[in-house]
Amino acid sequence: MDHPAFKTMGQQAGRRSWAEPWKIKMVEPIHVTSREEREQAVVEAGFNTFLLRSEDVYIDLLTDSGTSAMSDRQWAGIMLGDEAYAGSRNFYHLEEAVQAVYGYKHVVPTHQGRGAEHLISQALIKPGQFVPGNMYFTTTRLHQELAGGTFVDVIIDEAHAPANLHPFKGDVDLDKLETLFKEKGAENVSYVSLAGTVNMAGGQPVSMANVKALRALCDRYGVHVYLDATRMYENCFFIQQREEGYAEKSVAQILEEFCSYTDGAWMSAKKDNLVNIGGWLAVNDYDLFDQLRNMVVIYEGLHTYGGMAGRDMEALAIGIAEGVQDDQVRARVGQVLYLGDLLLDWDIPIVQPVGGHGIFLDAKGFYPHIPQDQFPAQTLAAELYLDSGVRGMERGIVSAGRDPQTGDHRYPALELTRLAIPRRVYTQAHMDVVAESIRAVYEAREQTRGLRMVYEPKYLRFFQARFERA
Ligand SMILES: *Cc1c(COP(=O)(O)O)cnc(C)c1O
Repeated sequence: MDHPAFKTMGQQAGRRSWAEPWKIKMVEPIHVTSREEREQAVVEAGFNTFLLRSEDVYIDLLTDSGTSAMSDRQWAGIMLGDEAYAGSRNFYHLEEAVQAVYGYKHVVPTHQGRGAEHLISQALIKPGQFVPGNMYFTTTRLHQELAGGTFVDVIIDEAHAPANLHPFKGDVDLDKLETLFKEKGAENVSYVSLAGTVNMAGGQPVSMANVKALRALCDRYGVHVYLDATRMYENCFFIQQREEGYAEKSVAQILEEFCSYTDGAWMSAKKDNLVNIGGWLAVNDYDLFDQLRNMVVIYEGLHTYGGMAGRDMEALAIGIAEGVQDDQVRARVGQVLYLGDLLLDWDIPIVQPVGGHGIFLDAKGFYPHIPQDQFPAQTLAAELYLDSGVRGMERGIVSAGRDPQTGDHRYPALELTRLAIPRRVYTQAHMDVVAESIRAVYEAREQTRGLRMVYEPKYLRFFQARFERA
């Protein structure tokens, strides 16, 4: 596809290369293990990359969650922690930052994203209600189910097709949503659970046109829209690059407009907000805020720290402002696109267009001979680790879990191995090493066998399940 947004910034006609808007002041040594050491480590870890020790990993692309490198300013902020139980000045900095950048009125701090998901799910979902959303996310859906809700996927069909080049594969299918409102009754819908970018679809963005139309539809049915804002900076960068009328707007301006179409948001600050731990929940409705502020003291901590230390809130307040800068987001997404372009040049099957936070390898494309119940994406993550010590993670049948009604595996259309790129951590040379390792694993694909699961935990099984070679 010739669309300029699908090329790295350096490859766009007439554009010069970009570079990171920072230089490196401190480094953390990493080392390469031998093939024998990795073979032993992967067996000990039950072929689950979540169970590897990070010391045995060379380039860690397990997640972009809590793995960002903080800036010197954020580290300086750590020294300014006001560790008061109540009313820490760092909380007020955090509150101001969320209000200024995202535009919501009331802010509740939480220890991380799932703490916020727990609170909002318990506050808004009545047992038996439906919660439509643009593809599920693991912890989000689990909290919605634990509150008695049933998640309904209303993302556009293109999101389920890894090679489909739709520029906004995160969009909500408004016909699917309206059908749900009509069939189940809008009063039986708790809220629309909107996420940008859509993690499980490969970091795919939602367009401004879609959120605007979504707001109009929901207004007609009296349904609220709440946003999983975890990677909205990256989402807004894609709007700037791809959507008519936004090329001249800053990421911050686009974000403000996007959020204005929603009633509130929950946040895993471990992603876009550039901290190693933290989260928040922000809403416009005062009564809901009052309820959430009361609940947070039960589950997280007082409403002016919510499970974070004062120093964590200071680093977060600074990270909110740094992360939304155009040059920061451009370099972050640009590095992901750089890796994606290398793989596409070698015809390696990946989800396209390349998303904002990582590369999603299409494991069904790698291993058409491995049936889905022998876990192709889990297999691919293990093979990549064995080849080079690069750690990714499964985003396929293991992550999808079991259907609570039937007890069978859920068989998702997408069977992916995710390589999430931490923010501000690795260099372009690391990306070259990763690409070459993927190519080596791809070349050996026909000899690769699948896995069988030998231990399965009850909740979020992908974190702790164990496997053996089939
Ligand atoms: C990480 C994540 C969450 C959960 O946040 P945690 O901070 O890990 O608890 C929720 N939604 C999305 C889209 C995420 O990526």
